[in-house]
Amino acid sequence: MKSKNYKKIILAEFPVDIILNLVEKRHVYFGKFRIYMNSIKLCVFKEKNAICQFCKLRATIFKLCVFLPKDISIKEAIEMQNFKHAFFNIYGEPQRSTEREFTLDHIVARANKGTNDISNLQPTCAKCNNLKGAIDNMRFKKMIIGVTKNYELVLKK
Ligand SMILES: [Zn+2]
Repeated sequence: MKSKNYKKIILAEFPVDIILNLVEKRHVYFGKFRIYMNSIKLCVFKEKNAICQFCKLRATIFKLCVFLPKDISIKEAIEMQNFKHAFFNIYGEPQRSTEREFTLDHIVARANKGTNDISNLQPTCAKCNNLKGAIDNMRFKKMIIGVTKNYELVLKK
């Protein structure tokens, strides 16, 4: 779907609590866009709190997004009722007017045969997720403790 013929459109932004309270409904509608609320991503954020497990950044914004073909406007897409599937990207703000996207991190990395089961997934910000890579979860936590004073500086780079 993310080909160069598509553009990502942000339909709306919501505070985290509003969305997490809707998780586990099968789906809700935003206009004509159907949003699945029982995705693994939303369930993990509901179950394990919308906080980065490493730097403790809290997610504050859900952005409802949709991919549209580049040559179609959002108005046309809604009229065509053709692009019904919207999804949420999740963000936190480490400082005012900066944004950091949240991701799902594999506690046991896929490279080490970790599964996609909810029990093996945790919310992290994209920066921590990138830094962690395939490093073991406990080892990464210990590494962070070792650089606690400098960890935020590391993330700013
Ligand atoms: Zn983080």
